[in-house]
Amino acid sequence: MVCFKGIKQQQSVFWLAIYGSVFLTLGLVLSTIIGLRQLTAGYRVLILVVNGLLIVVAVLLIYQLFFRFFKPIKLLLRETRETLQGIRKDGITMVRDDEIGVLANNFNRIILDDQMKRIELENSNQELASHADIIEKTYRELDKKIYDLFTLFGIGKELNSTLSLETILKITCFTSMGQVGVTVMTIMLLEEKGETRMVCQYTKGLRKDPKRPEACRFSMEFLSLLRLNEQPFLFSALEGRPHLKTEMDFLNKYKTFIIAPLTAKDQVIGMLLLGKKLSGEEFVQGEKNFLATLASLAALALRNARYYEQAITDDLTKLYLKRYFQLRLEDEIKRATRYQNKITLIMMDLDHFKEINDTYGHVQGDKVLNRIGEAIRENFRDVDVAARYGGEEFSVIMPEVSKSLALIAAERLRKYIENISFRVNEKGINVTISIGLAEFPEDGKSPIQLVEAADKALYCAKENGRNQTMLA
Ligand code: GH3
Ligand code: MG
Ligand code: MG
Repeated sequence: MVCFKGIKQQQSVFWLAIYGSVFLTLGLVLSTIIGLRQLTAGYRVLILVVNGLLIVVAVLLIYQLFFRFFKPIKLLLRETRETLQGIRKDGITMVRDDEIGVLANNFNRIILDDQMKRIELENSNQELASHADIIEKTYRELDKKIYDLFTLFGIGKELNSTLSLETILKITCFTSMGQVGVTVMTIMLLEEKGETRMVCQYTKGLRKDPKRPEACRFSMEFLSLLRLNEQPFLFSALEGRPHLKTEMDFLNKYKTFIIAPLTAKDQVIGMLLLGKKLSGEEFVQGEKNFLATLASLAALALRNARYYEQAITDDLTKLYLKRYFQLRLEDEIKRATRYQNKITLIMMDLDHFKEINDTYGHVQGDKVLNRIGEAIRENFRDVDVAARYGGEEFSVIMPEVSKSLALIAAERLRKYIENISFRVNEKGINVTISIGLAEFPEDGKSPIQLVEAADKALYCAKENGRNQTMLA
């Protein structure tokens, strides 16, 4: 650090330099004149002494000028350059109260000001960046909401366009799983209106899918919990309620993590059970809202499908009604004509059923019919259309199946029924069935012709001794 004494002293140095120079000039002139006139040895010595002194003064003046003026300026220049280049962080360090000090202080102030502005700029840049983050996040959330809305709109349309329970269950399940990213999902529906038994209607992602639909009787407390919760709730919310242990054990079988109630017009019809998210993250509010909306759309569609199912299904046998069967037969014949496929129509009639009614009464007869319905449903494929054609007459449409193949299925059912021991008035009785088969287009080209042909084959089976299958 260089110290300098001040402006006044610096001024005097300049004056001193001027006076010194004048004095030096006068001295030299004088000493020359005297030296020329009095060329004695003594004067010569005097001239030498005076001139020597003048040289010392001049050297001192040069020294003062160099160290007190040029050097500080050089230092100032170096420090400003280093500060501007960023090598020096603390500005100019020299402390002076002269013009150079003022210059250094002003420079430092400008630099400090500049640094402050830079910090301010950086801060506002950071603030802008954080705002940009918020905008980006909001934009992403909005984008997701729009996507969710579009998905729901599409799903709503799809759900409304079908009355097939199976299709609705599939759409609901796959949409939920895809949208929230879970790998296990189950849809439970209350067995019937006013019932408390929940039946597993559809499940996906369990390591071992249950073969038959599993059911559990749910307490009124649990059902009202479903009714009161519009939003999906976590399975863990049930913990600490020992009286709901049966329900919780049942739900645990389906790896339930979150439950979305299915309510239509304030009535609980079932629930969606979802497992943990694949990512391991918690369910966010947006996902819960999505599930709640999807659940309400699905609940309405499921309720309508159930109404439709009830309208086309026979109560006693749970098989389709004759009217629905006739419409389906027309459709299947049209389809088979278009694709040049075969159809086999099966007509069946219980043997000597009147005797069962006469012996055990109609109520017991109904029980037998109910079990026969179950047997028919168990022995045919989902694509086959099994109906109760009349009192104890049944029919099955087997699309894309020839009568030789259908014969195998018919015989399997006949033998199956033959071996059932029906419990009637605490007694085990056996019932047999006669079957007739006709094939489209070989045995009949229209629904009426086909039914007549199958009926004829059935009549032959009866004539031939009953409990047998005959082809048209
Ligand atoms: P077949 O071997 O010739 O068919 O003899 P069958 O006694 O079965 O004769 P048929 O098919 O004509 O008998 C129909 C009987 O089925 C008459 C009626 O008592 C009984 N039935 C029809 N509908 C019902 C029903 O809904 N419930 C009960 N319990 N019986 C019914
Ligand atoms: Mg009969
Ligand atoms: Mg009959």
